[in-house]
Amino acid sequence: SEMFGQLTSGLESAWSKLKGAEVLTKENIAEPMRDIRRALLEADVSLPVVRRFVQNVSDRVVGVGLIRGVRPDQQLVKIVHDELVNLMGGEVSDLVFSKSSPTVILLAGLQGVGKTTVCAKLAFYLKKLGKCCMLVAADVYRPAAIDQITILGNQVGVPVYKEGTEVRPSQIAKNGLEEAKKRKTDVVIVDTAGRLQIDKAMMDELKEVKQAVNPTEVLLVVDSMTGQEAAALVTTFNIEIGITGAILTKLDGDSRGGAALSVREVSGRPIKLVGRGERMEDLEPFYPDRMAGRILG
Ligand code: GDP
Repeated sequence: SEMFGQLTSGLESAWSKLKGAEVLTKENIAEPMRDIRRALLEADVSLPVVRRFVQNVSDRVVGVGLIRGVRPDQQLVKIVHDELVNLMGGEVSDLVFSKSSPTVILLAGLQGVGKTTVCAKLAFYLKKLGKCCMLVAADVYRPAAIDQITILGNQVGVPVYKEGTEVRPSQIAKNGLEEAKKRKTDVVIVDTAGRLQIDKAMMDELKEVKQAVNPTEVLLVVDSMTGQEAAALVTTFNIEIGITGAILTKLDGDSRGGAALSVREVSGRPIKLVGRGERMEDLEPFYPDRMAGRILG
């Protein structure tokens, strides 16, 4: 299935209302704008974001006037494209590396979102960029999580630092970082415990781990299937512990687009990477312009 297929067809119905029009006017865009609004809401984009988006598009439409050789429906597509790109942060937001190695990347996220998979995918991705990585298993609540990250680490050929489940996560992270320094590792990726929902213990532990290893990147892994809820989570984690961005997983599934479109605008934090499948190579940078292009079909 096409990614965000429903959103794409919802928007198509907006352009179709302008077939045969000579120019864009306040009057003839009223119905297309309603279609755009409906399509975004059905894609699970949060209401304030939809309102601002529709306002921005309307403001620009009224200002464009007649462009020779460009049909009104194409003009509207172009404006919506540009505004979608803006909504998603404009430029690609690259990972930041610290001046002195190793760079520490702390990964957080609720259970089941794909965090452990992302740890290994990220190591694989960075390895392809020529960086030597190490994974740190600081998720001590599920013994299975340590086994899983060990297996995935082996699969991508990246060492996994672990101390079992009896040591404090912050201590494991600190020791892991020391080990990484000895090995002259470029990037240390710290996996933390996920829980079914946000609770104080989780946030306190994350704060403690963060303080122990002073990460350059703190990335929240969120599931794109959860739509605008993903954006709300990024906001909460950012307020509670301070994060540098998000990683959006499961974009290969039948998510509606709300997460991709809401995260930046709602939380002020960018989506840096996206996961598009279960294989180790299924992780890539988040390109707002390509994403807008895909949405517009
Ligand atoms: P964690 O609990 O957050 O550590 O989640 P896991 O890494 O164990 O992933 C949970 C499930 O989601 C596993 O079955 C993964 O294979 C799957 N998964 C993770 N990322 C993706 C993705 O981008 N696409 C798809 N289709 N499945 C994914």
